[in-house]
Amino acid sequence: MTMAAHDASSRWRTFLEEAKETEVMTLLSRQSNFPFLSIPFHELQTFDPDFAEDILQYPKQVLSAGSKTLMEICRERGEEIDALLRVGELPGDTRKPLREIGSSDIDKLRSVDVIVTKISEIKPRIHRAVFRCESCHAEIEVEQLNERELKEPLKCPDADGCGLPKAQTRFDLILISSRMVNNQWIEIQEQPEYVPSGAQPRRGMVLIEGDQVNKHLPGERITANVIPVVRSEVRNRKKTPMFDVIFHLISSEHESTPFTEISIDEEDSDRILEVSQRDDLMNLIQRSIAPSIFATGILGHVKRSLALQLFGGVSRRLSDKTRSRGDIHILLMGDPGVAKSQLLTFISALSPRGRFATGGGVSGAGLTAAAVRDAFGDGRFALEAGVLPLSDRGLAAIDEFDKISTEDRRMMHPAMEQQKVHVAKGGITATLHSRCAILAAANPKDGRFSKRGPNQSVMRSFQETGLPPPLASRFDIIWMIRDEVRIHDDEKIARHILDNRTSGKSESIMDNSIELGPSNLEEESFIVTSENGEEHLTQNFLRKYIAFAKRTIHPQLDEESKNVILKYYTEERQSFGREDQSASQYESDQGKDTVIPITARALEALIRLTEAHARMHLQEVATVENANVALAVFRHWREESGIEDESELHSGVSVRARSNNSAIMNMVRDLCSEKGEAVLVEIYNLALPRKISEDEVNRVISKMLQNGELFESSTDKYRFAR
Ligand SMILES: [Zn+2]
Repeated sequence: MTMAAHDASSRWRTFLEEAKETEVMTLLSRQSNFPFLSIPFHELQTFDPDFAEDILQYPKQVLSAGSKTLMEICRERGEEIDALLRVGELPGDTRKPLREIGSSDIDKLRSVDVIVTKISEIKPRIHRAVFRCESCHAEIEVEQLNERELKEPLKCPDADGCGLPKAQTRFDLILISSRMVNNQWIEIQEQPEYVPSGAQPRRGMVLIEGDQVNKHLPGERITANVIPVVRSEVRNRKKTPMFDVIFHLISSEHESTPFTEISIDEEDSDRILEVSQRDDLMNLIQRSIAPSIFATGILGHVKRSLALQLFGGVSRRLSDKTRSRGDIHILLMGDPGVAKSQLLTFISALSPRGRFATGGGVSGAGLTAAAVRDAFGDGRFALEAGVLPLSDRGLAAIDEFDKISTEDRRMMHPAMEQQKVHVAKGGITATLHSRCAILAAANPKDGRFSKRGPNQSVMRSFQETGLPPPLASRFDIIWMIRDEVRIHDDEKIARHILDNRTSGKSESIMDNSIELGPSNLEEESFIVTSENGEEHLTQNFLRKYIAFAKRTIHPQLDEESKNVILKYYTEERQSFGREDQSASQYESDQGKDTVIPITARALEALIRLTEAHARMHLQEVATVENANVALAVFRHWREESGIEDESELHSGVSVRARSNNSAIMNMVRDLCSEKGEAVLVEIYNLALPRKISEDEVNRVISKMLQNGELFESSTDKYRFAR
């Protein structure tokens, strides 16, 4: 061992007294439950470079000498405090990917960039135990370094006690005099951006003590400064010759700017600025989204909205302390085989911090969070982050959204709107962030969506997914993608597929030559021209572009753009009067149902879309041009989905349907009072001038039969039950 062991204490003393006097005084004056002094590594390095190097090599000894020295200094100044010394902001050469930590790193100081995935309950442990010798009553203090067994004194000291060995006396633990420290386990995982493609992210268990406890939440990205240590595996309460590596946390830094994992050099930012000036930017980016999925019909609009989603609006803290979300949530509905999953996969790979998950296949923590027992093998409860907290500040693409668990459905509203997941389970209470855009895809419960009638909104399809209607109101945009392909598109699509299938590099050629790897090819160019002469941005470049825009641009709407949105909003609000509401004897209930064509929720969606379009163009001010694009996208989805009454998004029942229900009921009632029973054909005939379809009549009748209001007196003839 080097000098570290013997003169660490004196070096610490010099450093603390000469360079850290003010901080020590502050520590003494502040009555903190968990007193600690944090020291940035570079300060120590400037002061005493050799000693700083020792900390990296022999962190345990040097740091514990440091804490002892700090406590001594405090004691000399009349304060008995249990202060700890934390060294952080480690130099670059201590940084290592979690997966590369091996035997040469054991007991050294290392820093790893990770996501916290689980935290356990807190438990106190003794870190300095006081024992009393049974024969002479001397008190002996033993420092407890191992969290798994209580270390007793080997013998009573000769100086203050009887000097008997352990075998000839007994040592009683005196809890009241012992010092306790809180500890907690967290699970860390490599940040997905650093995981080699195809590999699973490496995980690690971290033991946290003292002031650092409860400072980390699942879903957070941190730089953890740790000492990897080995401990023997325990099987059936017996130690085995196998060893686990666990980590002791020394200090940690929370990320200050997002997306630092995506490196953007000067050349990149020059290109980004250049591309941002193009007149066809919106179209260029739209084309760059899943170029292999041909954008026919509605898909073009879908891609346009996805392009805006990738950039997102600006999340703001409002003066009343509430927060408005900037992330844009989009739902894609469609029959199996309409390329929904491919779009989701592409967007999740493209978006910085994008994650892909399958609603039905999400294990463990699901989309939000779960409490797990014994996640760290010591019986404690742990809180595990689900997909949304893990996608914080990014995007979560959730396929088979209709299959999410009941638990997730319950937590989905706040997770999408306030972007928080609140958990209080198994002794852990925590609020996790889920500040991510959600791109969800849903399938119909019964295999295929039924054809929507001309008077039915997209909510009819939404209900066929089995999702609860109010959830629909959390999405800014809902698309219904049908696989009906128009005839003249067929040839275009076939040509497109042919070009696509034949233009890629043969995989076997790529496997044989590393130089031909797709990432290397993509690295060099940032715009590629496909066979049909259309330009699009490479995925790699577009990801950098998005990260750059999200990191640096936070657009504000100017007055003119606000006015345009406001004008649309007020016009829509007043629009329900314009519909021809021809008076009819069957509209008696109409008055009860007020049509709400647009709500403030839509207003927020419009602002987000406007901001997203401005951000895409790297504009700090969102202008009327941005607002007009946002309005066009918004209008298009509203028209496409037939939403005339926004309250339908909450209730799932349109005003039309509600009034149709009562109209049909009145028709049946009239027929019954007139003729004793209502014949189906006659109901159809009455419904016809009201533009109520036979399907609709059938639906209402069968509902009335189901809930016992009606009974079928003979085939297709109905009577009221009483
Ligand atoms: Zn003794």
